[in-house]
Amino acid sequence: MAQRPSFPARMDLSSRAAVAPKNIADSAVHTRARSQNDAKPGLTPAAQGHGLDSQMVRGRMVKKLAHQGITHPDLLAAMGAVERHRFVDSALVNQAYEDTSLPIGLGQTISKPNVVARMIELLLQGQDEGAIKMGRVLEVGTGCGYQAAVLGRLAREVYSIERLRGLHDKARANLRPFRLANVHLLFGDGMQGYAKGAPYAGIIAAAGGHAIPQAWIDQLAVGGRIVAPMETAAGQQALVVVDKLERGLKHSVLEAVHFVPLKSGIA
Ligand code: SAH
Repeated sequence: MAQRPSFPARMDLSSRAAVAPKNIADSAVHTRARSQNDAKPGLTPAAQGHGLDSQMVRGRMVKKLAHQGITHPDLLAAMGAVERHRFVDSALVNQAYEDTSLPIGLGQTISKPNVVARMIELLLQGQDEGAIKMGRVLEVGTGCGYQAAVLGRLAREVYSIERLRGLHDKARANLRPFRLANVHLLFGDGMQGYAKGAPYAGIIAAAGGHAIPQAWIDQLAVGGRIVAPMETAAGQQALVVVDKLERGLKHSVLEAVHFVPLKSGIA
């Protein structure tokens, strides 16, 4: 098979680190091939040499998400816009748009795109119909900051909390070039929620515990929704949705998932 350079073989990894952060947002991904080993089928020669490559790959990812049942147009647009490859280590950029979770350091992982999209779609479905944007959202488990960036396009304010200092700092560096003024990164134990941002229209967790912490319930607005992985009685993890209604809480247990554990305290 002819080896063609294609995204992400042409990712400019060296300049990613070298370019001043404020320039990164505007700099398209367009450098020459360093290696032709990870050429992927499907990119036309015409697309080669253009900064549009990663956009095309994201376009394909979005099509796949739609095929997998994601329907919310704003969510699909956000998934198409946020450059996921900027959130993973350089050695993994060629997997950034694959349907796979990836290591982000300190034993943690960035979720698969379809899991990120599924959870955000559930969050959006819990909001008032007709609302143009979600209100305030709390994300527990910032990790590399990818999901926070997606949420930043869909919610008025995003408070994202991470318990590992190393990842909190990494997310800050990753997000800086995106200049998302409405995304607030916090270092702390997300099991306590973040009372200063409450009440939240939505709370989304990227780590699973044995129960939904009471602080999340308390900090959720009436009419709001929590989407989180949680350990079930069977000892497996499932996606759980909690709606805070006028008359009380409504719990729904959905499909099985595999998230890193929700831990208390900071490190
Ligand atoms: N949304 C992230 C996924 C990160 S993985 C992304 O897009 O990259 C889940 C993260 O949850 C890990 O970084 C882990 O350190 C963090 N975490 C686990 N328990 C936590 C807690 N109590 N408070 C805050 N973060 C927590």
